[in-house]
Amino acid sequence: MIIGFDFDGTLVDSYSMIEEAFKRALEKHYSWLPFKSFWAKLFTKIELHFEKPKYGRHNSKVKSPFFLRTKFARTWFEERAKMTEILDNADELIKKLKEDGHTVISFSAEDFIEGMKEKRLRIVGLYNLFDDVIIFGKDITLCEAFQLLRERYGDEIFVWVDDKPWRFIGRGDENTEFVWYYFPPTAKFVEEKRELLAAIPHLHVIRDLWSILDVIDQIKRERASIST
Ligand SMILES: [Mg+2]
Repeated sequence: MIIGFDFDGTLVDSYSMIEEAFKRALEKHYSWLPFKSFWAKLFTKIELHFEKPKYGRHNSKVKSPFFLRTKFARTWFEERAKMTEILDNADELIKKLKEDGHTVISFSAEDFIEGMKEKRLRIVGLYNLFDDVIIFGKDITLCEAFQLLRERYGDEIFVWVDDKPWRFIGRGDENTEFVWYYFPPTAKFVEEKRELLAAIPHLHVIRDLWSILDVIDQIKRERASIST
């Protein structure tokens, strides 16, 4: 199987440090500015607004807010990357899945600054563990990224793991299995509109990344029983 992992909120926690990273970036670029904690809180609020679900906008590319296209933003991303923590020993899990014969890829959205996602994957030491890295949202849309995946890997079963299940709606194909990794900071957006989950076929929910091993076993059993 192809196992595709999202990055933020799935393999790593980079949310808890958003505000602190803004504070550090403000210190560096605007040390004269009063009330830095206030500004850091405000920027965090705006940033989290961009994390919210955008239902039905399937082909949109990422549009960045003005303050995330600056040197200040670069520092913010870098500070955020430095504090980012790997979830559930995800690095060990990736190795285990590869040992089991799966193709493990990174399948995530570009950050507001081009090239930043790759850089952050490298900073946390995950980049080189993947068999392939597909980044959408800047040069290619998510739908185009999915097509690219099919061109590269044919119709093999794709297990798509993401903490934002609204991304799954209307996407994928009959050989796609969707796995929602329940990550509290983004799960709260789902709780507000839980009925949307009904629109996702083949949906599995996990609260620990290692449960993916059980999901894979279950998929094998289900698919085998369909074909017999
Ligand atoms: Mg995510």
